[in-house]
Amino acid sequence: DFLPTPSPRLHESDGMIRVRGANENNLKHADLDIPRDSLVVFTGVSGSGKSSLAFGTLYAEAQRRYLESVAPYARRLIQQAGTPQVESIEGLPPAVGLQQQRSVPQERSTVGSLTAVSNVLRMLYSRAGDYPEHQSMLYAEDFSPNTPQGACPECQGLGRIYDATEESMVPDPSLSIRQRAIAAWPGAWHGQNLRDILISLGYDVDKPWKDLPQKDREWILFTEEKPSAPVYPDLNHEEIQEAIRVGRRPDYMGNYTGARRQLLNMYASADTPGRRQRLEPYLTVGPCPACEGKRLKREALSVTFAGLDIAELFRLPVAELQQKLESSVHAHTTESADRNAEQQRASEKSLVAERLVADVSSRLERLIAIGVGHLSLDRPAPTLSSGELQRLRLATQLISKLFGVAYVLDEPSAGLHPADGEALLESLAALRDAGNSVLVVEHNLDVIKHAEWLVDIGPEAGERGGRVLYSGPPEGLNKVEESITRRYLFAEAPAALREPRQPEGWLNVRQLSFNNLNELDVDLPLGCLTAVTGVSGSGKSSLVSTAIPALLASRLGDLPADPEEENEDREVRRLSGHVSGDLDTLRRLVRIDQKPIGRTPRSNLATYTGLFDQVRKLFADTPLSRERGYKAGRFSFNVAAGRCPNCEGQGFVQIELMFLSSLYVPCPECGGARYNAETLDVTWNGMTVADVLGLTVEKAARVFAEQSAISRALSVLLDLGLGYLKLGQPATELSGGESQRIKLASELQRTQRGRTVYLLDEPTNGLHPVDADRLLRHLDALAAAGHAVIMVEHNMRIAAQADWIIDLGPGAAAQGGRIVTAGTPKEVANDENSRTAPYLSPHLV
Ligand code: ADP
Ligand code: ADP
Ligand code: ZN
Ligand code: ZN
Repeated sequence: DFLPTPSPRLHESDGMIRVRGANENNLKHADLDIPRDSLVVFTGVSGSGKSSLAFGTLYAEAQRRYLESVAPYARRLIQQAGTPQVESIEGLPPAVGLQQQRSVPQERSTVGSLTAVSNVLRMLYSRAGDYPEHQSMLYAEDFSPNTPQGACPECQGLGRIYDATEESMVPDPSLSIRQRAIAAWPGAWHGQNLRDILISLGYDVDKPWKDLPQKDREWILFTEEKPSAPVYPDLNHEEIQEAIRVGRRPDYMGNYTGARRQLLNMYASADTPGRRQRLEPYLTVGPCPACEGKRLKREALSVTFAGLDIAELFRLPVAELQQKLESSVHAHTTESADRNAEQQRASEKSLVAERLVADVSSRLERLIAIGVGHLSLDRPAPTLSSGELQRLRLATQLISKLFGVAYVLDEPSAGLHPADGEALLESLAALRDAGNSVLVVEHNLDVIKHAEWLVDIGPEAGERGGRVLYSGPPEGLNKVEESITRRYLFAEAPAALREPRQPEGWLNVRQLSFNNLNELDVDLPLGCLTAVTGVSGSGKSSLVSTAIPALLASRLGDLPADPEEENEDREVRRLSGHVSGDLDTLRRLVRIDQKPIGRTPRSNLATYTGLFDQVRKLFADTPLSRERGYKAGRFSFNVAAGRCPNCEGQGFVQIELMFLSSLYVPCPECGGARYNAETLDVTWNGMTVADVLGLTVEKAARVFAEQSAISRALSVLLDLGLGYLKLGQPATELSGGESQRIKLASELQRTQRGRTVYLLDEPTNGLHPVDADRLLRHLDALAAAGHAVIMVEHNMRIAAQADWIIDLGPGAAAQGGRIVTAGTPKEVANDENSRTAPYLSPHLV
C-alpha cells in the first residue's frame, strides 16, 4: 500500500486502446489491444473487416462520445443513427477520420481554400503587396473572385465570357430561316414569332441563309435594336406586304430581338444546368478580355508581390510558389537592411511580408512533403483525385498541430508513386511524434512494413473474415499461417513472370497537348497490357483518363454521352492532337474509372449492373403480384406506386444538426426498407424485394443460383472480390476502387464484339495484393483476347507483370509531361533516367 495511486487515465488504459467484443458488420466478437501514440496499420483482404474495425468501431465510437459530450441533445439522434456494435473500448482518444472521399467536395473549394493558404496570401497582397502609385490600399476580400468586392465586373468573377458568332448560331447555312437555319432560336411559338416578325420587316425567310445579303444576315443576328412590327401569322410574303401597305389590322404587334442578344439573355436567365447545356452548343466561350480569365477586378490585379499578380501566383504549382515566396522575402529583407534609412512604412511592410510568408511557407512545406507539390492553389477540389484530396486533408491536420488525437486514415498511399512514399511515411511519423495515435487501413506493402504495430483481419472477406488474426509488431505476423497478408509481406520470391506479349498493332498518338502534356508523341500497343507510370503530377491521368479517350472518341464516333460530365467536356476543348495507326480494327473505347457509378443513393450495384431488372421480373411473376396486377415497375424504389412515400424510396431521411454536418437516419416509416407495406407483401422464395437488396453478392449468388442471367452477373462480381458488397449498397457509399470494379464486372459480362481499348486509372487502389492479382488476371485475359488495356499503375508488383510500360516524367507539372522511357518492364527497369526503374527492378529478378 506504499504504491502511488495510479492516475485514472493510466489505470484505465496503460497506454493501450482496448477493444472488447466488436461485432460491427462482419466482425466476430473481436478483441483487440493496440498501443496509443503509435503508427498502427490494419491489413486484410477487401471485405475482411478492416474498415469495420478502424472506422466502424474505433472512429465511430470516438465520434459518438464526442457528440454526446458537446451536444447532449444529439443523443437521441445518435441512437437513431446506430451506435457501433461493441461491448467496450478503453483508452480511446478523440478521433479525426480521414476517409477516402466518397462524395464530391464542394464545387467552389480549391487547393488554396481547403488548406487555408488562400486567405493568408490575400492578406499578404493587401498588406505587403506592391501597389501602383496613387492607388489606395485594398482589403483582403478585394483579392477574392468569390466576393462582390473582388470579382471582375465584366464576367462576375467567372473568368470567361460567353458570346455567339454566325457560325455558332447558324450551324448549317444551306437552310432557310423557315427551315430553322438559326438553330439557336428558341423552339415552338417563340421561334415562329421571330420568323413572322422578320417577314413583316421584309426579310426573305425562304432563301438559304448563305444566299441572304451579308448586311441582312448581320442585322438578323447582331442588331441591338428592338423594332416592333405587325404580325400576320397566316399570310405569305406577298400577302403580308400587301396587308401592311393597305394598313390591315395585324393579329398582334411583335418585338424583334437580335439572335445573339436573344441567346445571351436566355443563357443568363437559364436556371438549370440542363437548360444552360442545351444552349451551350450555340455559344462560344473565351477568356474574359477585361481580366484575361483571372476573375479579379482591375485594381486587385494591379497589385503585385514578387513581380506577380495574385492570380498568377495562384497558378504556380505549390513547389514553385514556395521557392518564389522564399526568395522574394530574402530580397525584401536584405534590401531594407541595406537601406537602414528607409521610411517606417517600408520596413513595416517587409516585416508583415516576412511573417505572412513564413506562415504560408510552413503550410506549403507540408503540402510538398506529402506529395502534392505539383498542384496549384487555384486547382478546383472536384478535379482532384481522392488520394490527393485525402493527403491535402492530412497536411491540413499536420499544420493544425493537434495532439492527443487518434487519426484514422484510409489508404493514404493511394495515387502515390513509390518515390513519394517516403514523404508520406515521414508525415505519418510526424503526426505520431506530435503525440497522436495514427491508425491506418493500408494495402501498400511498403507502408505496412513501416508499421510499429500491425493488425491483420481475416482470413477472407465477409462471413469468412471478421477475426483478428494478429495484433503486434509486424515480424510476428510471419508465424500466422492462415494470414493471406503474410504471404505477400514475407514472400521471398517475386510473382512468376511470363514473357511480355508481342503487340498486335499500334495506335500512334501525335502532337498531344493537354494540361502539362506538351506536343507529346506516344505509341500504344494493341493486344497488350500497358502500365503508365510516373510520379504524382507527371501527367498520367491527363493522358489516360482524358486525352486518349477524347482523341479516340473523335475517331470512333460518338460515345454515349454522360450528362454528368459537363465540366469535363469543357476541359476537353483545350486539348489538341491526333491519333493514327491500326485504328480500323478498333470498335469501342471503355473507360473504367473510379468515379461513382451514380451521384445519388438511388443508384446501386444492382441497378447499375442491370441485375435488378431481372430480380424485379421475378417478383412481378409471383402469384400475388399477378393477382394484384403488380408489374416489374412496382418493385423499383424510384417509382411512386411501390415505394415508401415518406423517404421516397431512399430508405433514410436527412436531419440537419446545428453546428454539425447533417446526419442521415433510417426512415422511421419503412425502417430503411424503401418500399411501402403493400409492395413488401410480395415475397419470392420467402424474401421481399427489400430483403433481396440487403443480400450480399455472395449470399445472392447462392439464392439466385438457378437464375442464369442473375447468377452470371453475380459470379463476375464475386470473382473480382466484391462478394461482400450488398446488392442495394447505394452508389454514394462505394469507394472509388469498388465503383471501378463494378464497372469492370458489368463490362466483363458483356459479349465482346470487335477490339476494345480499356482505360483504367489506378485499378489496384483499395485492393489487397491478393485481390489485385485477381483483378490483374481479368485484365490480362482482356489483353490476351486482343484488346488494348491501358492502366495508370503505381503498384510496381503489378506494373512488372504488364507487357509494356510507359514512364512519364521526369517530375511533376511543368517538370513532367514527357515520356522518360517506354518499353517492356525489363527495358524500363534498366533505364537510368527513370525514377520508376529502381522501384520496378526488384520485382523483375
Ligand atoms: P474492409 O475494410 O476490410 O474492406 P469492411 O469492413 O468494409 O472490409 O467490410 C467487412 C464486411 O462488412 C463485409 O462483408 C461488408 O459487406 C460488410 N459491411 C461493410 N459495411 C457495411 C454496412 N454499412 N452494413 C452492413 N454490412 C457492411
Ligand atoms: P498524374 O496523374 O500523373 O498524377 P495529372 O495528369 O493528374 O498527373 O496532372 C498532370 C498536371 O496537370 C499537373 O500539373 C496537374 O496539376 C495538372 N492538372 C491535372 N488535371 C487538371 C485540371 N483538371 N485542371 C488543371 N490542371 C490539371
Ligand atoms: Zn473578367
Ligand atoms: Zn421510408
